[in-house]
Amino acid sequence: MRTIGFACTSAEAELAPYHFDRRAPRTNDVVMEILYCGVCHSDLHWARNDWGWTLYPAIPGHEIIGRVIETGPEVTRHKVGDFVAVGCMVDSCQQCDQCRKGEEQLCREGNTGTYGGFDRVTKEYTLGGYAKHLVVREEFALKVPAGLDISKAAPLLCAGITTYSPLRTWNVGPGSRVGVIGLGGLGHMAVKLAAAMGASVTVLSRSDSKKHDALELGADSLLVSSDPDAMAKSANAFDLIIDTVPVEHDINPYVPLLDVDGTLVIVGQIGPIAAPTTVPLLLGRRRIAGSPIGGLKQTQELLDFCARKNILPDVEMIRMDEINHAFARMEKADVHYRFVIDMASLQAA
Ligand SMILES: [Zn+2]
Ligand SMILES: [Zn+2]
Repeated sequence: MRTIGFACTSAEAELAPYHFDRRAPRTNDVVMEILYCGVCHSDLHWARNDWGWTLYPAIPGHEIIGRVIETGPEVTRHKVGDFVAVGCMVDSCQQCDQCRKGEEQLCREGNTGTYGGFDRVTKEYTLGGYAKHLVVREEFALKVPAGLDISKAAPLLCAGITTYSPLRTWNVGPGSRVGVIGLGGLGHMAVKLAAAMGASVTVLSRSDSKKHDALELGADSLLVSSDPDAMAKSANAFDLIIDTVPVEHDINPYVPLLDVDGTLVIVGQIGPIAAPTTVPLLLGRRRIAGSPIGGLKQTQELLDFCARKNILPDVEMIRMDEINHAFARMEKADVHYRFVIDMASLQAA
């Protein structure tokens, strides 16, 4: 089906209007009109070929909220008019042990990315949510619960689930002590979600300039990581530290902050980090871990949790033709805390 989006044609090019075809809907597909799409740091990496495997033209976007406008004859989960949400993946093998557990993000064959993947049937290169329409198999379109503000919910689909999943993996609840490194798109969601689960939450930041913001978001305190005395006093103070920093950095100062059996989980940086020393790992039986997004079941659980607890990302709404400026601002961390594109602006652009 013919549609329109915003694509970039090379690593140097700006995003610009682009007409293209979505694949013909299959019997188990829904066709969505995209209403809102969040702007993730990965979108910027993807557009600029920072990981080295971008194929052009590239359309980023994997925090997608839309409305079903057509359903295949075998679709049972959704009907025309339903609000649905699509995150970072649009398909998986559905057969392996991980898929059967509802951990499609860990599919043994690799899940199909919403952008930068290959359709499992047509082998076409997938294009993301900076577009008017999306065709997706019904399982990968999640239900948007009533009561969740659709104009703000899009970032839950990547930033939200990427921080919710480790909170659930490490059983965070009342009494848990959670540290959050980095207060951007992911970090601000980690604070809100951990606080809503009843944890005591500390933001770790290089200066105390973000203290007011951290407390507003629901944190109990801010620890200044450039202050050696404060860091030394906080040894063994956390059960879980979520590291959301999206660029290469040194995790060594944070590991001693973990209590025995505590875990530092990396969710931001995809690539090298400064070499860790194993001393505090061995002596404190501490762990360094990584975590991607969550599976479909857990992502639905997150959407329902946020509707129930009235948790929403803090977003700044932009027009589609403001995306290049938004990328530039995101590179300077000049956003509180996530841009969301109002797709109604795409027609005008
Ligand atoms: Zn993302
Ligand atoms: Zn699988």
